[in-house]
Amino acid sequence: MHAIKPFNTLGRSAQDFEPIQPGKVGFYGCGPTVYNYAHIGNLRTYVFEDLLVRSLRRFGYEVTHVMNITDVGHLSGDDDTGEDKMVRSAKERGESVLQIARFYTDAFFRDTGRLGIARPTVVCKATEHVADMIALIQRIEAKGYTYMSGGNLYFDVTKFPTYGELANLRMDDLKAGARIEVDENKKNPHDFVLWFTKSKFENQALVWDSPWGVGYPGWHIECSAMSMKYLGESFDIHAGGIDHVPVHHTNEIAQSEAATGKKWVNYWMHAEFLILDKGKMSKSKGGFITLQSLVDAGFDPLDYRYFCLGGHYRSQLTFSWEAMEQAKASRKALADRILDLRDKLAGQDIPAVSALGRAAAERLARFDDALADDLAAPRALAELWQLVRDSQAPAADALAAALEMDGALGLGLAAARREEASVDPETVGRIEALIAARAAAKKAKNWAEADAIRGQLKEMSIALEDGPSGTTWKKLA
Ligand code: AMP
Ligand code: ZN
Repeated sequence: MHAIKPFNTLGRSAQDFEPIQPGKVGFYGCGPTVYNYAHIGNLRTYVFEDLLVRSLRRFGYEVTHVMNITDVGHLSGDDDTGEDKMVRSAKERGESVLQIARFYTDAFFRDTGRLGIARPTVVCKATEHVADMIALIQRIEAKGYTYMSGGNLYFDVTKFPTYGELANLRMDDLKAGARIEVDENKKNPHDFVLWFTKSKFENQALVWDSPWGVGYPGWHIECSAMSMKYLGESFDIHAGGIDHVPVHHTNEIAQSEAATGKKWVNYWMHAEFLILDKGKMSKSKGGFITLQSLVDAGFDPLDYRYFCLGGHYRSQLTFSWEAMEQAKASRKALADRILDLRDKLAGQDIPAVSALGRAAAERLARFDDALADDLAAPRALAELWQLVRDSQAPAADALAAALEMDGALGLGLAAARREEASVDPETVGRIEALIAARAAAKKAKNWAEADAIRGQLKEMSIALEDGPSGTTWKKLA
């Protein structure tokens, strides 16, 4: 099993990965709030999580990947301010919250599917786990971490001594406090709601009975309750976008560890934001770019995946249409290399990874090292490029290793097909004449001439395939 070294937000350092159970990884990634389409910034985070899961599986770990679907309780401010995002969206569209949730959950998985993102092992909806949340809140309450105020049940962060460790928050840091809207019911600005009975807005669509009155759960508690239900009270990796460090994940840790008295998550991994030339991309501010808008502009979803993998997940990535064009061209060039290798092989079997020759095996090892080193996707991509360019490796080896790498990168290279373009009849005549001339040159053992003609055809984007019954050709797009 390959040793991997993820960068742990908790402790801010690259750390050797040691799972709780040898060979197994429990992984939780915060899922979408399904009140709108995912924008391509959200999707960047899910591409990163998918690269993580694929890499771990490549290295032989059995990964249980759990993702929640937030269909209740997420207010427009992560710190309990504003409106419920689902309720607002339902109101605006004149549909029920459940209709909205179903529609955007389906849209989310359609998008992630098109991006080659593997479906999580467990997908769990908040609205179907309210009983688990209530049970967890009762444990937290029994240990004395809560107080009722203004009709809502709050978590008292001053009772949890290591509060804010993940984000390096200092409790006396006025600036951190100032960013949080003052809620008169809170004893401390960092306190957060576990259960709402007093809605800040009319017509809260979904409510449940609870020991604290009829109401609904705060947003943070859902991740703690569902992750523990499916992964146990302590698990290996938790991931999400970088914006979740100071509030959402900080609060998840406090309430989980308050309930169990144990360390909850060993490794925290956070993806930096995708930004637009103009600044932050945000779901609630509107004007965001969806995957479908990229498709409508002529891109394959996997071009966006390639674009994402061109940056390290811990660096901000700036979206631009020019960068998308480059990603598209690069992915096509890569697919063409794969097809060239296939052409060279002409149906011959590719070797098993264990039987690779030295050149390809070394490349593959360097590729694995790059992924193991905190998912260095740009370095891994560079290794793939070197491999398909590297004339030292025989075609069969290069192809086998490239497909192996693509198992982790997910760029759809195994499915690459040549796009054929139409050719006008006059050009067909010229092509066939050149092919006949090449056949004659070969018959006369004039190899230089035959190669020169093949080169000439290649410049016309014509690919030749020599078979037992003669030569066939196709025009490449
Ligand atoms: P949400 O659906 O708003 O809960 O967000 C889903 C995921 O996308 C979370 O992990 C966020 O941290 C992440 N996210 C939000 N905006 C961006 C962005 N611009 N770039 C990358 N990730 C983002
Ligand atoms: Zn979460």
